[in-house]
Amino acid sequence: MVVEVCSFFGVYLLYCTNPRYHGRVYVGFTVNPERRISQHNAGKRRGGAWKTSGRGPWDMVLIIHGFPSDVAALRFEWAWQHPHASRRLTHVTRRTSKERQFDFHLRVLAHMLRTAPWCRLPLTIRWLKQEYHRDFPPGLEPPLHMPVAFGQVRAVRGTQGARTESSEELPVTPKRCSICLKRFQDGEEEDIPLRCFHAGCSMAAHVICLARTFLQKEPDQFLPVEGQCPGCKNLVLWGDLIRHHKGCYGDLEADPTSSQEHWADELNCEGGSGNVSEGDSSPLVEDELGCPAAGMALL
Ligand SMILES: [Zn+2]
Ligand SMILES: [Zn+2]
Repeated sequence: MVVEVCSFFGVYLLYCTNPRYHGRVYVGFTVNPERRISQHNAGKRRGGAWKTSGRGPWDMVLIIHGFPSDVAALRFEWAWQHPHASRRLTHVTRRTSKERQFDFHLRVLAHMLRTAPWCRLPLTIRWLKQEYHRDFPPGLEPPLHMPVAFGQVRAVRGTQGARTESSEELPVTPKRCSICLKRFQDGEEEDIPLRCFHAGCSMAAHVICLARTFLQKEPDQFLPVEGQCPGCKNLVLWGDLIRHHKGCYGDLEADPTSSQEHWADELNCEGGSGNVSEGDSSPLVEDELGCPAAGMALL
């Protein structure tokens, strides 16, 4: 089964199955994993990267997705490729002579997922090829809000405004923010409220109001991970609220261990390059917070 995910920004690990180059790995960024792996295996004239060209076939083994933007994913890609140049990863020791490239990359990944700012993102860790799967080392497991998923994934467009099924329609949007009680301004895009997706819950709030509420216990953070809905009191993941807000109506309450499609995040970083292309990446300078504008503007 192929899981469909909208607002897809992913960073993947390739494994070389060509006996001459056996054991080599490659880390890359993509908005379309199905297209990307076929490009890698078709060589650089077909859009593959020069490092992978002529050395295939490659298996796309693992992909991390759920990044809020291309810039956030590209920063992750850069740090995974250059862990010893990243000042966030100074605690990661170098590859030993006995350590395979694949094992080293998984070790770096395990550290990255537990390191700010990535440890706060609503990421999904997806094994695309089950035969490569291994557990994270004890003590280096990813944060609990990040599901480990299995199987193929497909990038699709969101379906904002085109929801078809009617059985679980939400009630009419309330006129006021459940938190600050101010009226929503009709037609203002930045004023479209976040809605709770639990059945019968009519909670709607400004993004910034709900983020502040969720961050009350973590005043040093700017990106919520989860919190209690002020309406129905259910625990909700921030990534699920944002995904729903964007019109990605998946199985929001799916068991995270069997994770169906997952969340995208709305905390767009500013200051990124406009058009980012897949392929051999240019190093992106790390900024102090990983996401400079997010503290000021949650949208
Ligand atoms: Zn409000
Ligand atoms: Zn609720």
